[in-house]
Amino acid sequence: MSSHPSVAIIGGGPAGLLAAQHLAEAGHRVSVYEAQATVGRKFLVAGHGGFNLTHSEPLPAFGQRYGVQAEQFAIYLALFGPAQLRAWAADLGVETFVGSSGRIFPTADYKPAQLLRAWLARLAELGVAIKTRHRWLGFAPEPTGLRLRDEQTGREFTICPPAAVLALGGASWAKTGSDGGWTAALTAIGVRTTPFAPANCGAEVAWGVFFQEKVGRAPLKNIALSCEGHTVRGELLLTDYGVEGTPVYALTPALRAALGQQVPATLWLNLKPDLTPEQLRQKLLKPRGSKSWGAFLQQTLHLGPPIPTLLREVAPPEASATPEALAQLLQHLPLSVRGLRPLDEAISTAGGVAWEELDEHLMLRRRPGTFVAGEMLDWEAPTGGYLLQGCFSTGAWVAKAITRQL
Ligand SMILES: Cc1cc2nc3c(=O)[nH]c(=O)nc-3n(C[C@H](O)[C@H](O)[C@H](O)COP(=O)(O)OP(=O)(O)OC[C@H]3O[C@@H](n4cnc5c(N)ncnc54)[C@H](O)[C@@H]3O)c2cc1C
Repeated sequence: MSSHPSVAIIGGGPAGLLAAQHLAEAGHRVSVYEAQATVGRKFLVAGHGGFNLTHSEPLPAFGQRYGVQAEQFAIYLALFGPAQLRAWAADLGVETFVGSSGRIFPTADYKPAQLLRAWLARLAELGVAIKTRHRWLGFAPEPTGLRLRDEQTGREFTICPPAAVLALGGASWAKTGSDGGWTAALTAIGVRTTPFAPANCGAEVAWGVFFQEKVGRAPLKNIALSCEGHTVRGELLLTDYGVEGTPVYALTPALRAALGQQVPATLWLNLKPDLTPEQLRQKLLKPRGSKSWGAFLQQTLHLGPPIPTLLREVAPPEASATPEALAQLLQHLPLSVRGLRPLDEAISTAGGVAWEELDEHLMLRRRPGTFVAGEMLDWEAPTGGYLLQGCFSTGAWVAKAITRQL
């Protein structure tokens, strides 16, 4: 048996590193074990996509973004919410700003790698030992035993810290280290996990070859997208395999549920959500003269080149034969979804450690002293900063619980 840190953190993503920081600040000796050669790989990937750290929405509305887990997350957010996250970044020398959509980002002067570097420097000052290339293999027979392998030497060993945090991430973007491989170790001790499913991901539509070749990739701005009674505004991206973009990501839970009932499921696209059906009809009643439908739509409604092709792709000609029918179709265009994009491509993962396996401190009931934080818990939230915030908040929560317990 090797050293016995007072707290072991398994997984060096945002949830694990924040728990490490808070525990070290509370005076604990902390070691972080990370399977990859570097920590924070998915954190850096998040940085490439805009680095949306959190959101400025007021806390009650913010908590609702966690869906069925809203009540729990309201408690975690009350401990470490957006204000604390901004203060944490500022303390590392990274200023943040609220964008026009309410999302919060580091200011343009800061690259994601700079924030991570400043964070790691702070952890080093606090005495946190970061042991990269150390893979957690599972639980040892000792009451708090954890089995690890040094990936460089192949040496396997057991540690028995009085408390440990599992922060191993979800199961998308496996190349960052978040491969979901940890489920086997938890299942082995009887911990129930909810199967993983892609969240915040694109949807597959079986476009015809003509559509794929003619349209390829095309953004549709200021649209509304609906599924199962939920409607989201934003920008949709048509791709050769289907659709991507914030509205699709936000509708993943509804779409997943609809696909569970029947395949294909329908996404309803409204290309003119700011007009009433009557306003739209009046615009379409204007004389068209010798203009083609495409030119007419462009001129009267600012609907660009992919729209006529899209209309032909998803509806029969009679559906746009009259101004009335066309007005109806432009606000109610059915996109026939045959599935979600693969889990590995998803921005986040639904599923993970089932809530009934955890007590109110996020400690495993079957394994006293072992806590769980971050994306490996069974929750999902839309993009907009809610994912990182959820990871930070649960990391802070377990750190507080451990500090109280030790
Ligand atoms: C493309 C993309 C863009 C994103 N953009 C944003 C964004 O702008 N805003 C936002 O809020 N969120 C964003 N996210 C989501 C966010 O990055 C994740 O929710 C967050 O990183 C999860 O944090 P975590 O600490 O729970 O897990 P992770 O960051 O996944 O970290 C888990 C760590 O555990 C390690 N590990 C796994 N198994 C083992 C093992 N057996 N032993 C030891 N270590 C192990 C992994 O190598 C990894 O380093 C984005 C995600 C992606 C993929």
